[in-house]
Amino acid sequence: MYDVVIIGAGVIGSSVARELSKFKLKIAVIEKCSDLCEGTSKANSGIVHAGFDAKAGSLKAKFNLEGNRLMDELASDLDIPFRRNGSLVLCFSEEERGKLEKLYQNGIKNGVRDLQILEKDEVKKLEPNITDEVIAALFAPTGGIICPFTLTIALAENASSNGVEFILGQEVTKIEKFLIENKYAYRVQTNKGSLETRIIVNAAGVYADVFHNMVSSNKIIITARKGEYCLFDKSVSGIIDKTIFQAPGVLGKGILVTRTVHTGRDGRD
Ligand SMILES: Cc1cc2nc3c(=O)[nH]c(=O)nc-3n(C[C@H](O)[C@H](O)[C@H](O)COP(=O)(O)OP(=O)(O)OC[C@H]3O[C@@H](n4cnc5c(N)ncnc54)[C@H](O)[C@@H]3O)c2cc1C
Repeated sequence: MYDVVIIGAGVIGSSVARELSKFKLKIAVIEKCSDLCEGTSKANSGIVHAGFDAKAGSLKAKFNLEGNRLMDELASDLDIPFRRNGSLVLCFSEEERGKLEKLYQNGIKNGVRDLQILEKDEVKKLEPNITDEVIAALFAPTGGIICPFTLTIALAENASSNGVEFILGQEVTKIEKFLIENKYAYRVQTNKGSLETRIIVNAAGVYADVFHNMVSSNKIIITARKGEYCLFDKSVSGIIDKTIFQAPGVLGKGILVTRTVHTGRDGRD
């Protein structure tokens, strides 16, 4: 009988595993792919968001701010690169200015530090290569960047060193609740066998609804979104420094331009 079984070895499963590995618990992480970080955690922008766009009062806003604040210490503990390069949301027309003001107010409510609305000349001073069409921008100095693979792998390696068992290449197919000594426990069925656990952490990413719906009467559906990336050569890495967003639309943050953590502004590794 395990104390905790975590389904999924993405950034969430791996960080929960690391956190729980600080306690005397028998823990397993089950991952259907042959390695860690093969789901959404392998294909994102690596931005540690400042937290100005998460809905004020929501859990997302609370954890965004707390996660952002903890990132310096976490990166130092895991010995991985993290840079607070800051982020800019650009605005190209007077009509869009209202969106910046809304984001600014939302960010202030969320507790984002040092937010500012910059006028064109201030934006151009920070980022000389931005088009002359820019008229203003929201600047969040606390925004950062990280390598998503390095983070996930470092979290999982630390958890593994602390005794967490990683079961890779096994797909969870079913979870069932049962009673043992008047307490609920779970049977976790995989394509290669089954095991029992007192607690399941459902960190299956965009498949988390499948497992949730197996044991809860409150059914949910996760609607996944995809993104596309153009990855530029290191030779142009100095063209921008900050993470550059456009004003958000109804479907999300829209197109963004960001650096990776792998080179400095001067192009050095
Ligand atoms: C285009 C894009 C850009 C993004 N950019 C950012 C960003 O810049 N900053 C940011 O903070 N967030 C960003 N995100 C969001 C972020 O990537 C996700 O929130 C995060 O990676 C989710 O991690 P996870 O561990 O929940 O999911 P995942 O990484 O998907 O992990 C879930 C794991 O569960 C495994 N699994 C699923 N089903 C089973 C099963 N039946 N049995 C066993 N294992 C199973 C999967 O194989 C996977 O490894 C972005 C997302 C997208 C799509």
